Amino acid sequence: MARIVMKFGGTSMAGTERIRRVANIVRKQAARGHEVAVVVSAMAGETDRLVNFCREANALYDPAEYDVVVASGEQVTSGLLALTLQSLGCKARSWLGWQLPIRTIEAHAKARIEEIDAQALVASMQAGEIAVIPGFQGCGSDGRVTTLGRGGSDTSAVAVAAAIKADRCDIYTDVDGVYTTDPRIVAKARKQKAVTYEEMLELASVGAKVLQTRSVGLAMKEGVRVQVLSSFVGEDAVPADEHPGTMIVSEEEMNELVEKGDMERQHVTGIAHDKNEAKVILTRVPDKPGAVAHIFEPLAAASINVDMIIQNVGRDKGETDVTFTVPQADLARAQA
Ligand code: ADP
Ligand code: ASP
Ligand code: MG
Repeated sequence: MARIVMKFGGTSMAGTERIRRVANIVRKQAARGHEVAVVVSAMAGETDRLVNFCREANALYDPAEYDVVVASGEQVTSGLLALTLQSLGCKARSWLGWQLPIRTIEAHAKARIEEIDAQALVASMQAGEIAVIPGFQGCGSDGRVTTLGRGGSDTSAVAVAAAIKADRCDIYTDVDGVYTTDPRIVAKARKQKAVTYEEMLELASVGAKVLQTRSVGLAMKEGVRVQVLSSFVGEDAVPADEHPGTMIVSEEEMNELVEKGDMERQHVTGIAHDKNEAKVILTRVPDKPGAVAHIFEPLAAASINVDMIIQNVGRDKGETDVTFTVPQADLARAQA
């Protein structure tokens, strides 16, 4: 018997029929005697829809109210999955972020998890109840709902796995593992049996959205065993316990796999891309000490992540151009 976290992404949760398929995968793991906590995303497209509502309501939206709106997608799917599991004869209940609670810092829309009180959760799992947890959401110290940034349900799953000392965190998605590049774009991409935490961290941070970057960093820090695998499988699929997906492993484990001949030593693990970056160019910035700080300090204060920065040679004496990138979603606030 093992203690397992199973996370299902948006495509896996898109509609009641798919939720029934997910419920069956969960039921099978529980039937093997495992203690199971499930972390779910909102239905595919739902978070985008909710974000658009916020933008329509107020382009310079207050991140705290944005969180109230966008966290609702996962509340719906967690309740629906608990209901579906119950209809299959399983004991199941949902645990919202504030109920556990999943405590985060108050940086709305990009909160970081500080701690999860897992006592009640573990007690209920030990009593044979399947726990269903909405991903992406947490609770600030002021009691207000927070969200963890886009793709944050992966991080919720890894954080729950660390808090309950799970044997494994299985991330079920719409591809059957981590590939050398996005298999939806490059048909020749190859599935990897294992990838190290460091390699996955690098790939995720430059755009391989199969795992949220922060989830990989957290898994590495907490030593959580993560597997990426598909929820779109038939009844006769190899059980997750036999590692049919891609395992995220430590450097030592990877060396062992290479020595056993299970993996080839690779010089390039993968290629990633990111289309959600916006480029901002400020022209004619005074070329003197402190000028650049005047640009980046307010961005940092607004919790806007600046990724690449280039300072160009100015056209006129004493002036320079500064170019930087921010997430597309933060562009309006960065401009303001
Ligand atoms: P979920 O909704 O389950 O969280 P995501 O859409 O966030 O799923 O992540 C899965 C997607 O990541 C895949 O459909 C695929 O297009 C994309 N992807 C990008 N790079 C890779 C990669 N190297 N390996 C596998 N999938 C990748
Ligand atoms: N629903 C959120 C998003 O679309 C979180 C997630 O799915 O991981 O970003
Ligand atoms: Mg995702």
